[in-house]
Amino acid sequence: MALKNQEISIIGAGIGGLATATALAQRGARVRVFEQAEGLGEVGAGLQISPNGVAVLEALGLREAAAAVANTPEAVVLRDYRGGEVVRLPMGASAEARYGRPYWQFHRADLLAVLEQGALAAGVNLVFGHRLIAVSQGEIRVKAEFDNGDVAEANALIGADGVRSVVRGLALHGQPAEFTGQVAWRGLVAAERLPKGLFENAAQVFMGKGRHFVAYPLRGGSVINFVAVEERVGWADEGWNISDTPDNLRNAFKGFATPVQALLEQVEETFLWGLFNHPVLPNWSDGHIGLVGDACHPMLPFLAQGAGMGLEDAYVLAREMDEKGIKNGLQAYETMRKSRATRVQKGAARNAWSYHLRNPLFRGAAHKVLAMVPQKALLGQFDYLYGHDVTEQN
Ligand SMILES: Cc1cc2nc3c(=O)[nH]c(=O)nc-3n(C[C@H](O)[C@H](O)[C@H](O)COP(=O)(O)OP(=O)(O)OC[C@H]3O[C@@H](n4cnc5c(N)ncnc54)[C@H](O)[C@@H]3O)c2cc1C
Repeated sequence: MALKNQEISIIGAGIGGLATATALAQRGARVRVFEQAEGLGEVGAGLQISPNGVAVLEALGLREAAAAVANTPEAVVLRDYRGGEVVRLPMGASAEARYGRPYWQFHRADLLAVLEQGALAAGVNLVFGHRLIAVSQGEIRVKAEFDNGDVAEANALIGADGVRSVVRGLALHGQPAEFTGQVAWRGLVAAERLPKGLFENAAQVFMGKGRHFVAYPLRGGSVINFVAVEERVGWADEGWNISDTPDNLRNAFKGFATPVQALLEQVEETFLWGLFNHPVLPNWSDGHIGLVGDACHPMLPFLAQGAGMGLEDAYVLAREMDEKGIKNGLQAYETMRKSRATRVQKGAARNAWSYHLRNPLFRGAAHKVLAMVPQKALLGQFDYLYGHDVTEQN
């Protein structure tokens, strides 16, 4: 198999980078992951991983470890901003019966820890405190240079360095990400600080004018995760997430349903993300350099698929490189993944529009129409996403 003893550098130890490292190392490659941060910590945030992502965790041998830290929601519930139920989609056992695998939610740090353990067990070398600043390639070797003066050479380099990918900018001449006109606050609140039973075991979306609020329990119901999205004209900050005052968040969601208000009252710390889109990248690879995850297909979070797509990328990239060699494998990977990732990128952008209808008359009418669509048809919309199993395809 082509990967045996090949040296591969991966830039970035997020979900995409760690999964890719594990998938490559399990096929015999000698993998080093270079991460700019000093460790794997991150601000508290939840991640939903649908059955298509779970398929990859399973193929990497991580299903049991992931199950131990996952939450399985019973439903996805869409509500108007005042709390009235518009649609309820059963998840839990129904999703597992329909797709053969569960729909899970994680604290991002818990999923990262599972992937880190998987990577270490596969023999991956994790190198922290290394920020990539330059990359160049010859016929068979790729050279990476870091801000601390270190240099690493390998037979291939994979950029898993997120939405603001340096590898993309240096090697694939991608255009910079564009601000979408939306920002998202994320945070966690301890459930013991809220009235008992205020949030059921479901992903709930409260939809208002130009904004929506998502909440779901994590860690056995001991914390409630929230994502609050608002449309904005500009995003002046250089960073892509910044700390913000809870009062700004509370003001933006005044008038929303009682559970939202009760949750927001308890928020002590929150971070604000500018949401960025990226024009479809013409090439995901060049010679012995490739991209995975947000580095090649950043997407809005409105289908909850960014990390799931990174997991899918990881599996396909490793399989294709193992079967076809580095250069041909990278090209085959790109061909196989691009149309799916682009479809999901576009679907996520459309969802933002439907959550945020501005005119209350249209919004009320749209919610009524949505409520009349049979549950089966609503769930069926997601079959192409959740029912896709990259580990089964050749
Ligand atoms: C509000 C919000 C909600 C979301 N909800 C979901 C969800 O429910 N489900 C889901 O699947 N997805 C969700 N996503 C998307 C998901 O978080 C991302 O798609 C996913 O985390 C991207 O993973 P990644 O590994 O590609 O990149 P990242 O997680 O961004 O990791 C990139 C890593 O590279 C490192 N790095 C960057 N530059 C360098 C450099 N020059 N040198 C070395 N290291 C570098 C970074 O420090 C980082 O550790 C959400 C996103 C947002 C903003």
